[in-house]
Amino acid sequence: MVRGTTLFICTKCKKIFLAPDAEYGAMIFSVPMPCRRCGSIRTLPVSQLLYISVYKRIWAAMEKDKE
Ligand SMILES: [Zn+2]
Repeated sequence: MVRGTTLFICTKCKKIFLAPDAEYGAMIFSVPMPCRRCGSIRTLPVSQLLYISVYKRIWAAMEKDKE
């Protein structure tokens, strides 16, 4: 479900960009949106930087799905 838009930050290149905020697996977390600059999916909402350890697991799961 899309909850509007939110500011994401890319952990690779530190780009901050606005992208759709879709809930990840019915949790409070958001689906990481590809970075507008470098294309990395290792992004997370600026407002959820405290949860970076959770996002590390989400990124690993997404990268595994792409293989
Ligand atoms: Zn980037």
